[in-house]
Amino acid sequence: MTFDGLWDELAPVGRDAGSGGYRRFAWTRTDGELREWFTGEARRRSLDVMSDRGGNLWAWLGDPDADGPGLVVGSHLDSVPDGGAFDGPLGVVSAFAALDALRESGWRPSRPLAIAAFSDEEGARFGVACAGSRIITGALDADRARSLADVDGTTMAEAMAAAGHDPARVGRDDEALRRVGTFVELHIEQGKGLVDGDAAVGVASAIWPHGRWRLDLRGRADHAGTTRLADRSDPMLDLAAAIAKARAAAAEHDALATIGKLAVHPNGVNAIPSAVTAWLDARGPVEADVRKVVAAVGAAAGVTPAEESWTSATAFDAELRDRLARVLAGADGKPAPVLPTGAGHDAGILSAAGIPTAMLFVRNPTGVSHAPDEHAEPADCHHGVRALAQVLENLA
Ligand SMILES: [Zn+2]
Repeated sequence: MTFDGLWDELAPVGRDAGSGGYRRFAWTRTDGELREWFTGEARRRSLDVMSDRGGNLWAWLGDPDADGPGLVVGSHLDSVPDGGAFDGPLGVVSAFAALDALRESGWRPSRPLAIAAFSDEEGARFGVACAGSRIITGALDADRARSLADVDGTTMAEAMAAAGHDPARVGRDDEALRRVGTFVELHIEQGKGLVDGDAAVGVASAIWPHGRWRLDLRGRADHAGTTRLADRSDPMLDLAAAIAKARAAAAEHDALATIGKLAVHPNGVNAIPSAVTAWLDARGPVEADVRKVVAAVGAAAGVTPAEESWTSATAFDAELRDRLARVLAGADGKPAPVLPTGAGHDAGILSAAGIPTAMLFVRNPTGVSHAPDEHAEPADCHHGVRALAQVLENLA
């Protein structure tokens, strides 16, 4: 099937009618629909679908246990709250479309080949990004994964069980990893590097070090209309200091820092809060600078930020990166552009686990990501499919 046909099939799943954005959270009914779609597309192509101990889906052509390890292409299908259509699904849909185009031309891979859909990449529900790939590589402890809870108090174990994935299976999965000889993830660019470079497709060089921290700010609940200013203990003031410092410290250290999620108690207009929990996301090219930003934000708020996740810098396999840049050279013979990203990906987790890994980016005309306006032009998506097909031909 063509890219456009596949894209249209997937488009309505999990789309919020109000915002126009996507709410595709791990181990929900919507997630189940996405998994069914993936499994259906895989079976239609006579691929063997396997679910690993992290709940990630692999659709194999050929037998990786007998003839592997193989080449794997793919991405994820889940989204952030009110996310865009492209972050994740572009890589999965492009993989099916690229395989179809090659098979129609009579091509047969000389090694096993899989299309993968990673589970819970955004961490929107349980707070840990790339949970599926972290579980199978051991970067996320099985017991910790099972006990992670969403805002309603539902644990990942309960959510998995409700979705038909046995939480007792959760854990490091060397068998699944052994099948993967090379992983290539195609993804929409989450910035404007390719716009500036005037190219439809590029190759990733590295993922910046990045992490998430929780700031627990305590105060004393009281009446907004009767408590004198001098008598207040208002954690919102500490939050304000933290937000302002996140911006200033990031600018000072050439990094990025964002407070984008809050929980306010009791969250009443006429009540001084008793507690505010804020989540800080920080990243940048240099690990030490990111750490300095986090420490400065904590000092401004008078707390020690609690680290919820941390991912060191990932440099993708240099030989593979350069090979793909050459394979995807333009008509002028110049290699495809190579660029870094501040966003984490399953490709980064697999790379850190020692699997030769590469990423392709597809141009994003506005650079907007994790928002309903995220967009890639159809012509660039088609270019991405052709690029992925070239990669399959070259590596499989
Ligand atoms: Zn993504």
